[in-house]
Amino acid sequence: MNKKALVLLSGGLDSILSVALMKELGVEVEAVNFAIRFCGCFGKGASVAAKKAADMLKVPLTVFDITEEYLEMYKNPKYGFGANVNPCIDCKIIMLKKAKEYMSKAGASFIVTGEVLGERPMSQRGDMLRLIEKQSGLKGLLLRPLSAKLLEPTIPELEGIVDREKLLDIKGRGRRPQMELAKKLGIKEYPNAGGGCLLTDPGYAKRVKDLVKYNALDLDNLMLATVGRNYRISPETKLAVGRNEKENSILESYLKDEDISFNVKDVPGPYAILRGRADDAAIELAASIVAYHTKLKDKDSVVVEYWKGRATDAVKTIPAKPATLETAESLRI
Ligand code: SF4
Repeated sequence: MNKKALVLLSGGLDSILSVALMKELGVEVEAVNFAIRFCGCFGKGASVAAKKAADMLKVPLTVFDITEEYLEMYKNPKYGFGANVNPCIDCKIIMLKKAKEYMSKAGASFIVTGEVLGERPMSQRGDMLRLIEKQSGLKGLLLRPLSAKLLEPTIPELEGIVDREKLLDIKGRGRRPQMELAKKLGIKEYPNAGGGCLLTDPGYAKRVKDLVKYNALDLDNLMLATVGRNYRISPETKLAVGRNEKENSILESYLKDEDISFNVKDVPGPYAILRGRADDAAIELAASIVAYHTKLKDKDSVVVEYWKGRATDAVKTIPAKPATLETAESLRI
């Protein structure tokens, strides 16, 4: 066994500390990050927080986009969901299996994570940590340095590659021990707690559950659910409306050939996409919600333009009565 580890780096404090601690103990570190496009962590080819952390820690980072296989797991996670739409146990197993596959290619002999015993109710209980280790095929090769002294010694500890005495015994949800360790290791920059995974967000969970209810859980729809305001127009149709320039252009990049785009004539307004069976009633209702999001929302009638896909040379118009606040809120997901 050599003295090189792959460390799973999300960019959160616990994973930052794990990298810094391994370096402090003389272990060569390569960071790995697993990006899932519909988790909101994927940008510019790398998970943004992980890239920032790797730069700060001066370690190489390899990012894997595991969206496709994650989505397959996500449709029916073996160990179920946490409080929202977060399949944490299956998520960790899938990431650790990928890390294991990459381990020999990277010339590393064990894997390190920032998991803390008892920090999260679902995936960080002692029995779950053991289950994750077993199911990912990493028995004895998965070191959790922040809680190591409370867990079975791993092979790198038994072989003296990592000095167990210098590892920690942190447990529970408090962040104070981690903050003290950060200070000791000279780490000044790290994100606030709880900022991370979109799958733990109750608002996003509502949208994902809506997709499941209407049998529309696929990657394109999950991506649409990450942006702007979302409305359920009919069982077959959904509307997404941008809240600012940035969201308008993200939405535009998600446009599919069958989608309908909307724009309110002559006034600045949001970009919006209607996806699904776009009959006259769906277009009319969607146009009324788009009109509601402009400064003409108190008018009796507003001219709304719409077109299919990118066919901006075939724009049609519809007179729409802007939706009321009550109607818009009743359709909001
Ligand atoms: S919080 Fe998100 S990224 Fe973390 S284990 Fe759970 S599902 Fe995976």
